[in-house]
Amino acid sequence: MDKMEVGVFLSSLGIADTGQALAKAKELGIKVVQLGSPPDDVLDGPGREDYINTVKESGLEVSALCAWYPGESYADIATVGRTVGLTNPETVSERLDLTRKHADVAVELGVSLLTTHIGVIPEDASCDAYSALVATIKEICEYCKARGITFGMETGQEAAKPMVEFIETVGADNLKINFDPANMILYGSGDPIEAMEVLEDYIVHVHCKDGLSPEAKGSLGTEVPLGQGEVGIPNYIAKLKEIGYTGPLTIEREAGDDRFGDISAGKILLENLRDN
Ligand code: MG
Repeated sequence: MDKMEVGVFLSSLGIADTGQALAKAKELGIKVVQLGSPPDDVLDGPGREDYINTVKESGLEVSALCAWYPGESYADIATVGRTVGLTNPETVSERLDLTRKHADVAVELGVSLLTTHIGVIPEDASCDAYSALVATIKEICEYCKARGITFGMETGQEAAKPMVEFIETVGADNLKINFDPANMILYGSGDPIEAMEVLEDYIVHVHCKDGLSPEAKGSLGTEVPLGQGEVGIPNYIAKLKEIGYTGPLTIEREAGDDRFGDISAGKILLENLRDN
């Protein structure tokens, strides 16, 4: 892969069938993709071989596999806190199991990075919920490490400093960050470019997404096409160059009714900023 090759988060295309989505990505001139959670039959086994073959035969490079979990909702900040990631004691054991299955699929794909939203890190580092999350992530990191996989937690729900403190508390050398600048805007968790100064040693993969701040407390901001939001995409790419990032620029577009158009325009924007 070339330095800062523009890629796409495959699910952003809004095409459920993996083979068709990969074909569309190629049609858009994309060479590298991040995959979202595969269907259940792939995670559970029977559909796995076909899935792996489909991905490999596409010729596209896979930079990362992202795990998400059934029942997650991004309706508003309180709902995210309750449903997203690995923080809820009622779902954590089932989700740990699912995460291990994702790591197994990553191994078979030859992909060395597994990412996810781990959920909202509790503010009080001395509370039981914080310790429980640390223990859960440690367990995942150990499982991944034994298989040569890096585990990347995605930014968004918290500011940069508590995220680094959390990573240091877990203390696993394969725990890194999938940096998403727009999430920081959407959740109101700080300026993404400033956050990169704090997080730079841990950033191994990035999303290129843009957004506008929330209009009301407790709600989420609005995702917009690349270059039309508050991230400041030219500054973002300049900062990635400054910190020596060389991985893919993975476009993520989770909203809007012209995904292909937005992704194509985003690709041109990012390539211009990267090359000039
Ligand atoms: Mg993202």
